[in-house]
Amino acid sequence: MLTTGPRGTRDILPDSSGYWQYVENMIREVCRNFAYQEIRTPIFEHTELFLRGIGETTDIVEKEMYTFTDRGKRNITLRPENTAAVVRSYLENKLYAGPQPTKLFYIGPMFRYDRPQAGRYRQFHQFGVEAIGAQGPAIDAEIISLAVEFLNRLGLNDLKLLINSVGCPACRPVYRTKLQEFFRDKVSQLCTDCQSRYDRNPMRILDCKNETCTEHSQGAPHMVDCLCDECSSHFTGLKEHLTAAGINFVINPRLVRGLDYYTKTAFEIQYSPLGAQSAVCGGGRYDGLIAECGGQPTPGIGFAIGIERVLLALEKQELLPIINNAIDVFVAPLGAETQAAAFQILTELRRANIAVDMDFINRSLKAQMKYANKYPAKFVALIGQDELAQNKVMLKNMETGSQELVERAELVHMIIEGMEK
Ligand code: AMP
Repeated sequence: MLTTGPRGTRDILPDSSGYWQYVENMIREVCRNFAYQEIRTPIFEHTELFLRGIGETTDIVEKEMYTFTDRGKRNITLRPENTAAVVRSYLENKLYAGPQPTKLFYIGPMFRYDRPQAGRYRQFHQFGVEAIGAQGPAIDAEIISLAVEFLNRLGLNDLKLLINSVGCPACRPVYRTKLQEFFRDKVSQLCTDCQSRYDRNPMRILDCKNETCTEHSQGAPHMVDCLCDECSSHFTGLKEHLTAAGINFVINPRLVRGLDYYTKTAFEIQYSPLGAQSAVCGGGRYDGLIAECGGQPTPGIGFAIGIERVLLALEKQELLPIINNAIDVFVAPLGAETQAAAFQILTELRRANIAVDMDFINRSLKAQMKYANKYPAKFVALIGQDELAQNKVMLKNMETGSQELVERAELVHMIIEGMEK
């Protein structure tokens, strides 16, 4: 237990943290281009927020939440997703009082008690965006376009964008009744989850992964054929905007979210080389959520992208960047008496904003040179007994192999000059 992390968690080690930084930098760059600003909310919230914000009949709430009672007897949950928390923060901090829409992005860990496998973890990370306060389909297209642009910039081009409309509280009840009629004779043959979904949330039967349920739902009526005028024209508008932006899409009537506050646009981006866990991005409109959380009725739309899956895709396609851990200078003390002087040099160089390391374990000269080369270091600053006595340093340029004895007072200046060459 002491040397093994909990199941479904992973360490991001130094040999891969550079890839995470690369992806995070891309997120920040794209969000800046699209004018979305970062929000950082806490990792835990009141459980009630997720019961409301995700829905009590969802798998997340029913089976996957990390929930506990804290020492003050509060019911707390580690966030399984972040839309509800962003909405909570939007209301608590009155972000609606600023210019609208409120365009936000976040990056951070989420927690779900899921069955771990490749691309599925109990602590995983999402990059998500939320645009709150805009009604029309243009913002839906912007959100989708942001996700596609981010993935494209990383080099992932072989994407499949699936879109659907899940209607609204005006047209969905009619569809729901039609669906229940369609499944009426088949209920007993569906999986136990779907049997309970039949009454509570029949749309969810459509996205059940169970083979029998998939078979039985062939030929089921489609929400897009039952949309009210408003939802229908919104969906048409979305398709027009996506087409105008040159973004390819496929309509998938199985893409559903059965809760009342999810409205109109639902979408998913798949990257098929990932196999079973091919979904990299899921999103949609939630025009009823803000009111559900106690605010004025306000439209909203967002998505979440799984960062682990993006990294898996980049690895699979050999698109991971080469990470540069090079340093400018390696300070090499020769003998214990020179350690303090070496440390002083190290400190001066760092104060001048130069990337520097030194030997801390009394390596031989040969081993120090080998270590410096491994980084690689552009310069090695050697300080032995003689150099110490003369208040000088032997500065070796590792690229050219040339070396010269320099005054300690000149060192920073010479290195900065040498780095510019
Ligand atoms: P969701 O919030 O369920 O719509 O998920 C959005 C995205 O987060 C998915 O498309 C995945 O890329 C990612 N994701 C969801 N659950 C997990 C998990 N348990 N482990 C890793 N990534 C996940």
